[in-house]
Amino acid sequence: MRARAMVQPGPGVLEEREFEVPVIGDGEALLKIEATGICGSDKTQLDGGLAKSGWSAYPVIPGHEPVGRVVEIGAEARRLWGVGEGQLVAVESVVPCQVCDRCTGGLVKFCRNRFSYGFTPTTFGSGLWGGFAEYLVLRPNTRVHPVPDGVEAEVATLFNPLGAGFDWTVRRGGTTAGDAVVVLGCGQRGLACAVAARAAGADRVVVTGLAKDRHKLEIASRLGVDATVEVDNLPDGCPDVVTAVRAALGGDADRVVDTTPHAVSAIGDAIALVRPGGVVVVAGLKGGADLSGVDADAMVLKAIDLRGVVSVEPWGYRQALRLLGSGRLPVELLHSHTVPLAAVREGIELLSRSDAVHVSVVPEVAS
Ligand SMILES: [Zn+2]
Ligand SMILES: [Zn+2]
Repeated sequence: MRARAMVQPGPGVLEEREFEVPVIGDGEALLKIEATGICGSDKTQLDGGLAKSGWSAYPVIPGHEPVGRVVEIGAEARRLWGVGEGQLVAVESVVPCQVCDRCTGGLVKFCRNRFSYGFTPTTFGSGLWGGFAEYLVLRPNTRVHPVPDGVEAEVATLFNPLGAGFDWTVRRGGTTAGDAVVVLGCGQRGLACAVAARAAGADRVVVTGLAKDRHKLEIASRLGVDATVEVDNLPDGCPDVVTAVRAALGGDADRVVDTTPHAVSAIGDAIALVRPGGVVVVAGLKGGADLSGVDADAMVLKAIDLRGVVSVEPWGYRQALRLLGSGRLPVELLHSHTVPLAAVREGIELLSRSDAVHVSVVPEVAS
């Protein structure tokens, strides 16, 4: 059997190629991909940024947020993963070795011998290691999560951003019932953090964004967010973002999650907004900018917990899939676009434009 895939042989290039689907080993499985989510980092990868930093190599099949159906599975994988043929699963990109000092020290996501779907060159083994393809070969130690019945694959790809929402806002941020939570930024990650805060029982949730992202702030409102603030379009007489957000929240925040890219001032705003003893989660990369202008003394004098976050623990993915299956919140509102496999590039460009919230790639039905 042959499988079509979109291969990136170098910076800025994506081309369709065919691969031979291999015989599956005892600890492996073959996944027929039904949808793969597009991530903001896919744009960086396409432009060549990830290879430059050593994260990825060429040629590569990108796509690290796959959802698909198990069509073949070895006996050992079936036993360990608890899934069988026909099951729709969400796949974690990182496959840890489970034996290095990081893995055995509880820092699995920083595994020294990690294998990653979407970043491993096609010159290794079967080559079918990326989500922008018809099939994906699942290796031993892969972490798969069953998708609840009734959730469509292209919506199930929200397991990734929603998983981050739960991981960053609830597990790392400590959001619990009755909390007042501020999420800075209304991209897919910011909206996912707001959803997680709501699901965790927060009493008040406020989300900030730019006026050009008003349609995303409207989605936030439909997902149960109490108030939204346009940081570049403040209410009349309101001197600054902190004053506007505090007014919308009705006081100090217990938790502030900063998902804004580049905006260093957002960290200063978060420190100003949080109550003494509260938690500030820093999730947005700032493009190498330093923290000049941030009030370090306030961190000390308010005894603030400042926590960085990167990627997602399995717990977050499980919460995300549970929420998707429950139908409790209309989280499918976050999914805005679906594109076919041949249009991966268009999908990646679409996500980096302001009108898209979440985009998935769906391989066309093979004739
Ligand atoms: Zn990603
Ligand atoms: Zn390891």
